[in-house]
Amino acid sequence: LGTLFVVATPIGNIEDISARAIRTLKDVDLICAEDTRHSQRLMHHYQIETPMISLHEHNEVARIEQIAERLQQGQSIALISDAGTPLISDPGFKLVRELRQKGCRISPIPGPSAIITALSVAGLATDSFSFWGFLPSKSSGRKQVFSNLSQHGETLVFYESSHRILDCLKDLLDLLGDRELVIARELTKTFETVLSGKASDLVDKVELDLDQQKGEFVLMVSGAEDKVTEMDLATEKLMVALLEELP
Ligand code: SAM
Repeated sequence: LGTLFVVATPIGNIEDISARAIRTLKDVDLICAEDTRHSQRLMHHYQIETPMISLHEHNEVARIEQIAERLQQGQSIALISDAGTPLISDPGFKLVRELRQKGCRISPIPGPSAIITALSVAGLATDSFSFWGFLPSKSSGRKQVFSNLSQHGETLVFYESSHRILDCLKDLLDLLGDRELVIARELTKTFETVLSGKASDLVDKVELDLDQQKGEFVLMVSGAEDKVTEMDLATEKLMVALLEELP
C-alpha cells in the first residue's frame, strides 16, 4: 500500500520548506496541488519534476476514488496547498477523512502554518489559544462571531483578508472592547509587519496607513480578562428566572 504524504510548503519565503518535504515531493509518484500553476514556482525552484494534478474545493470529492485506487496500487502521493499546511483553512479535509476511513496510510511532513508562525512572535499568551479560521465576510456575521467569543479567556486567532481588515478591526473593537491585539501581516515576506497594541490604537494605525491594509493577515486578540465561569453563567440564569417570577 502506498502513502499519502500531507506536505507543508512555505507561507511566503520559498526557503521555508524542510529537506524532507523536498525529498518527498521528488520521490512520490504524484503531487496533488491546490493550484498546479501556483505550485510550479516551488517545483521549479527545487527542481521537482513529479507529475502534478489539481485538488481544490471544487474537485476534491471527485478525486478521492482516483487517489484511493492509486494508493491501493502501491503508489505514493503528496498533498500540498498553495501555502502552509494543507487542511488548515485549505483543501484536503474530505480527502484525508475518507482515506482514513478506508484505512489508507497518511503521513504528515510538517512545516509552516500562518497560525503558529504568527503566535510565535505575537507575545500574547500561547498556553491556550483557539483558532477560528476566516471570519465571515459580512459585518453582521463577524459581529456574531466576536460576540460569541467575548467571554473566552484564551487568545483568539483569526485569518483575515486585506479588503476586510479595517472593517474587521472596527467590529472587533466594538464587540470585544479595547483589548490587546496583534496583527501579523505578510509573514516571512518582504513587507512583513507585526503590529501590536490596544485595538483602538491599531484601528487608527491601519486606517491611516493604506500599506497596512495590503497582503495577508493573521489577527490575534488577547482573551477575556474576567473569565466568566460556568458557575457565574448558571447563577445569572437563575437570577433572570427568579426576577421573572417576581410580581
Ligand atoms: N494553509 C495555510 C496555513 O497553514 O497557514 C492557510 C491558508 S489560508 C487559505 C490563507 C490565509 O492564511 C491568508 O488569508 C492569511 O490570513 C493567512 N496567511 C497565509 N500566509 C500568511 C502570511 N505569510 N502572513 C500572514 N498571514 C498569512
